[in-house]
Amino acid sequence: MRILVSNDDGIFAPGIKILAEKLATEHEVYVIAPDRERSANGHALTLNKPLRAEEVNIFDGVKFACHVNGTPADCVKLAIGAILEEMPDMVISGINRGQNMGTDIMYSGTVSAAMEGTILGIPSIALSLASFSDVHYETGAEFALKLANELATKELPSKTLLNVNIPAIPADQVKGVKITKLGVHKYTDIFEKRTDLRGKHYYWFAGESLEYQDEEDTDIVAVKKGYISVTPIHYDLTNYEFLNDLKNWDVNIKDKIEVKK
Ligand code: MN
Repeated sequence: MRILVSNDDGIFAPGIKILAEKLATEHEVYVIAPDRERSANGHALTLNKPLRAEEVNIFDGVKFACHVNGTPADCVKLAIGAILEEMPDMVISGINRGQNMGTDIMYSGTVSAAMEGTILGIPSIALSLASFSDVHYETGAEFALKLANELATKELPSKTLLNVNIPAIPADQVKGVKITKLGVHKYTDIFEKRTDLRGKHYYWFAGESLEYQDEEDTDIVAVKKGYISVTPIHYDLTNYEFLNDLKNWDVNIKDKIEVKK
């Protein structure tokens, strides 16, 4: 199987190397990833400057690797639209340094790289390690290979990707795998106000993760308990339950506005 690997921590991050080299033991792997860290860039695209892709030779066993001066979504779009000669069978993004659970996915470049794959019609997986220390990536890489092989024999519903979070523990201590829903990942949104040398104020975002009692079947609780969490997510953000109620709102402006003649 041809697998496109990307991430948002940049091509030189340890997580992508362990992931790509593990997948390359069984598959044809192409790595196309940002040339620097692009965490929390969400699904941003670069429209106002040229994108440059430069080949690198830092991965064992992969077919081809290059870094791009763009965002994670740029990398996947460019890879599929211009760089790769054939469509990949799968897009796998990660392994991210730090979890992407609950509301994190709205900001995550890791998830957006996989989501771009999904938008382009390719089965995709996002993988994140629930730690900001570079530990136990091999647990995630091992699982990525297993999940990719399983996904190759299955079909995902349209617009859907798999969001995986790995507890930061050695593989032999992982309790198992839980299929979960997104929890609510809360942060203390603290901005530190400082003063620069010219007396002007500036701000540093210094949000920290909050301990939060979430529901039992969420990604957050599963990972906290030592399970690998797999959440099916989709990019159709329509609230179908509410859609019909909204139709009853009085928002028709045609009969409200007097047309001046
Ligand atoms: Mn990241």
